[in-house]
Order: sequence, then C-alpha cells, then structure tokens
Amino acid sequence: MSADYHTHTPLCLHAEGSPQEYVDAAINAGLSEYGISCHAPLQKTDGSEPFDDWRMLSSQIPEYLEWINAAKKHAKKSNHKINIRCGLECDWLPNCQTWTRHLRSLHPWDYLIGSVHYIGESTWDFDNPKWIGKWAKSQQNADIHQIWELYWNTYTKMADSGLYDILAHPDLIKKFGHKPPGDLSKYYEPTIDAIATSGAIIELNTAGLHKPCQEAYPDTTFLELARDAGIDLIISSDAHHPSEVARDRQKASTIAKAAGYTHTTIINQRQRSYTPL
Ligand SMILES: [Zn+2]
Ligand SMILES: [Zn+2]
Repeated sequence: MSADYHTHTPLCLHAEGSPQEYVDAAINAGLSEYGISCHAPLQKTDGSEPFDDWRMLSSQIPEYLEWINAAKKHAKKSNHKINIRCGLECDWLPNCQTWTRHLRSLHPWDYLIGSVHYIGESTWDFDNPKWIGKWAKSQQNADIHQIWELYWNTYTKMADSGLYDILAHPDLIKKFGHKPPGDLSKYYEPTIDAIATSGAIIELNTAGLHKPCQEAYPDTTFLELARDAGIDLIISSDAHHPSEVARDRQKASTIAKAAGYTHTTIINQRQRSYTPL
C-alpha cells in the first residue's frame, strides 16, 4: 500500500487542478490511498474572514466536501482500487484550540493535519515568498537562532496540544535555506519529546526538495531522532498541482529507510495501520 495524505485543492487560491486530475495522477503514481487536506478556514480575533489570502473560507466547507465527493466518485469509476481520504490542514496559532475543535466537529474527517506557518504575533507567515526580504535582513546567526527557537517552541506547543493526527513538514522554517550552523539536534529534541508523548504522526514532506533549501522536511537528523522515539511516519507530497501528487516518493522512501524506518502509516477515520516501506 502506498499513500499520499497531504494534498490541496484550488479552494486555497494557490493550487490548481480538478478532482479528476488529482485522482488520475494518484492512480498513475500507483497510490492505494489518496488524501485531500486543503488549508482550513481561519478567523481573525474579531471573527471575521478572510484571515489571509491562501485558504478556503468557512462558507466554502460544503464546496470543499463536494470537491472531495467528486474525487470519490471518479475513483469509484476507475478500475483501480484507490481509497479517497478527507482531512484538513489546520494552522496552529495561539488560542486556536476552540476553533480547531470546531473544525473537527464539522465532518467525520479521516485526519487533521497540524501546521506551523505563523510564528510570533501570528502576523508572520514565514514560509510565504513575500517575506524573502525580511529573511534577507535576518542573515546574522543570532537572528536565525532566535527565529529557529521561536519556531521550534511554537511547533512544540502544537504537538503538546494533541489536537492533530498528523504534524506537517516539521522543519519548514528552513524553506528559504536559513539554518543555524552546527548540530541542529538541540532545536529538535524538545519537539521530538512532545510529539512522542502526544502520539501524533509526522510527515516526510517532499515539497522541500523543490524549494531553496533543496531538502525534504524534516532533515535526516530530525528523522533519526523521531524514529528512535518511536514516532509514526507518513510520506507526503503537499501537492498543489496534479503533477505533484506522490512526487519524489522513491527518494523519500530511501531517506526514511536510511533513518531506520521500516513502515509508513495508513490512516482511516483516525485509525492507524502500517505498511512496509
Ligand atoms: Zn499551500
Ligand atoms: Zn500543505
């Protein structure tokens, strides 16, 4: 069995393709599980939307479920056995717990993915290309160290919350290639402990291979620590286009095996099983 659980839809305004095209791509890639997990709605503190310009609105949840249904229908028509799973990629923000529980209650999702895209006062979506200039000003090692500390503290809080089945792209903070020098374990260890305690699955996300950092998320050091801590793993593409579904699966599988993983996780209605790599 082979799964890709982190993929997007055009409802987030920065992805392209029809449900049929995504399902066909998943079938062509030989997947047996294709999961849709687009950027979930968020509200500003005053309850208004849009929160930003890269997610669906709350009012679009029915449209999102229709999109997933169209994918299910198309999958059924094909001769290939492929399961369509439905989830959401939810942003971790301070005080988001009530909102996340609300999102959870809207539908019997197969899983929720938790992501850290915002750090600090929740106004800096650090992986947004519009901030390249801000990153360029943070070239000093002291600045990068501070940003990394803030990021990993935030990620640890997300893991501690226990709100999510899967935690996305663990070291996304390196996206534009900004890393502190030396051994990075000290940043990872508290987070690994929190994830292991929470029991959440982490993903090996291949999108990073196509970003300035040129590395999957997370890096090998993180993956080895996660493996030693007994944390479950999925491999995902974070596809925003049908051509990206299951991208670099083989490479990811090699990376996971090198870190000591022997299995990846299958998830259906929050229940897990395991399949060999
Ligand atoms: Zn996205
Ligand atoms: Zn994503």
